[in-house]
Amino acid sequence: MGNYMKAMVLDGPGGRLVERRMPQPRPGPGEILVRVHACGVCRTDLHILDGDLVPPSWPVIPGHEVVGHVAALGDDVEGFSPGERVGVAWLGGACGECEYCLRGEENLCPKAEFTGFSRPGGYAQYLAARADFVYRLPPGEDLSMAPLLCAGLIGYRTWRLAGQAERVGLYGFGAAAHILAQILRMQGKQVYAFTRPGDERTQAFARRLGAAWAGGADEMPPEPLDAALIFAPVGALIPAALAAVRPGGSVVCGGIHMSDIPRFPYSLLWGERRLRSVANLTRADGVDFFQVARKSQLDIETHPYPLGAANEALDDLRAGRFEGAAVLAIDGIGLD
Ligand SMILES: [Zn+2]
Ligand SMILES: [Zn+2]
Repeated sequence: MGNYMKAMVLDGPGGRLVERRMPQPRPGPGEILVRVHACGVCRTDLHILDGDLVPPSWPVIPGHEVVGHVAALGDDVEGFSPGERVGVAWLGGACGECEYCLRGEENLCPKAEFTGFSRPGGYAQYLAARADFVYRLPPGEDLSMAPLLCAGLIGYRTWRLAGQAERVGLYGFGAAAHILAQILRMQGKQVYAFTRPGDERTQAFARRLGAAWAGGADEMPPEPLDAALIFAPVGALIPAALAAVRPGGSVVCGGIHMSDIPRFPYSLLWGERRLRSVANLTRADGVDFFQVARKSQLDIETHPYPLGAANEALDDLRAGRFEGAAVLAIDGIGLD
């Protein structure tokens, strides 16, 4: 390939990704060139494709669950060496100077940069990433590590923002919930899984991962929940989840985009129930989460696709054709 690479590129909203041969990025000052091994496919990528989220400029190389190794270092990068295994997640940069950054809320920085959105992402053989936003990864297989970088991390942050809870409802049992359910079980929490009504296959998958109860999102759990975490992009789940939590309980929305929330009576929020969203993630979340992941025997359900089949992976995600997470195996690693 010389100094060229293969990438899957989105030229505008509503389109399809196009396979393109393009120059390999050169790491600028403070950046690392990462040779990508695996990149997870996230629902956020679908939101970009559909025009729900509009990047500052086109074209976009999506992908923000990147596992690879350090191929080259830009100027002024310390603490990394070529060949080292690294991860790149959604938060690709922040200014470090604004009131949010100084408060430890870099996830809310107005100048934040996002991998696979305002910075090139991992649907490619290489990407350049800011070294100060690159993670060192625990040992593990590349394909099953990739979903940890968004699904795992965002799921974990969503859970932490819910506060103390023993009975935890997970609305939308996809990549994020299937990882978080295992962590919650290991911490002795009770997991209640809510899927699309009638999706018995996913309900069975949730029970296999230790859910105490699994049912449709239109059903009430057998007991009121302490917290409900919403991972499906469906605004109508918010009143449903509020109805399922006890007074004083929390509903936390983990997704970056949701359809509109229908009107609902104040009585659903009354009783000191809390409703909040999760926006992006911080590097501190990543460090904490990988410590938890290292101690947990996570069983990550992955569905590998070659890089050139990214459109198919996104279609399958949209249609709910698999359990767990789709992952692009960039070098064909893990593909039969
Ligand atoms: Zn994501
Ligand atoms: Zn900032």
